[in-house]
Amino acid sequence: MCQPIIVSGIEVSDKIKQDIAQEVEAIKLRGGKIPHLAAVLVGNDGASQTYVNAKVKACELVGFGSSLVRLPETISETELLKEIERLNNNDNIDGFIVQLPLPKHIDEQKVTQAISPLKDVDGFHPVSLGKMVLDLPSFLPATPYGIVEMLRHYNIPTEGKHCVVIGRSHIVGSPMSILMARNSYPGNCTVTLTHSRTKNLKEITLQADILIVAIGKPEFLTADMVKDGATVIDVGIHRIEDATKKSGYRLIGDVKFDEVAPKCAFISPVPGGVGPMTIASLLKNTLLAVETHDYASQK
Ligand code: NAD
Repeated sequence: MCQPIIVSGIEVSDKIKQDIAQEVEAIKLRGGKIPHLAAVLVGNDGASQTYVNAKVKACELVGFGSSLVRLPETISETELLKEIERLNNNDNIDGFIVQLPLPKHIDEQKVTQAISPLKDVDGFHPVSLGKMVLDLPSFLPATPYGIVEMLRHYNIPTEGKHCVVIGRSHIVGSPMSILMARNSYPGNCTVTLTHSRTKNLKEITLQADILIVAIGKPEFLTADMVKDGATVIDVGIHRIEDATKKSGYRLIGDVKFDEVAPKCAFISPVPGGVGPMTIASLLKNTLLAVETHDYASQK
């Protein structure tokens, strides 16, 4: 049993947002372009609306411009691709995201690949992911980027550690495994990427110094799967009904926090962990987009 250090995404993201707000002030003073992020929301999914609203609000907070492009659930793939082309060609918009998931009749890969790599602030485009693999400067996928920044902020040792990632999605698990293996801090881990076909998962998680859990199953990781002194980062977000809350629900993660936390050296909570960091990374990427555009236009 130990008293874990809570890895607070709220604390780290507030610091990042303050730094970005100062940068925006500096841009204003030198008469530069104020960063502008657009978010495309297709349909009326409740969780997606909440995420997009939080992203737009965060833009306002740091002084960015923001636009919300709302499109009906029934929009055709062709129309959506046209909208993306408009955003690609709109010089006022430095970066934009298309909130996932999209309705079933739309091919998410097609949409992701239609976004200009210069404006791909979610970091999902093959160009961004390829650059990440090659360790070239690029937009990192927002959630893994946020986790990297959390580890950095709390000075969590990573070199030579065994990092076990649960989940191999293109937006979280796979890029996370690449970042943790990079030859820089936070990285230099020996990484095991586990997924739905992994055998003896518990044997593997028990060897982990750092566990990054992105499986999408509520409270999946239990105390018996974690070794003493581990660092646990919980990516999962699940709404569960709770009549005692005004909203009617509360959020839980992929980790059974109450029983896992006493075994950990560091643990991130849900809510208040990875979620706010994803938004902060999006803002960082948008700032990077402005700098990249400035650089490209000076060449
Ligand atoms: P996903 O559903 O795309 O991927 C889940 C992964 O878990 C898959 O790769 C699958 O192979 C693996 N898996 C399933 N069963 C397994 C098992 N028994 N053992 C080992 N691996 C198994 O999920 P995702 O998009 O990566 O999201 C994961 C969670 O993180 C979800 O709860 C999602 O809502 C949340 N999320 C949070 C943020 C944030 O900002 N906090 C961002 C993205 C996703």
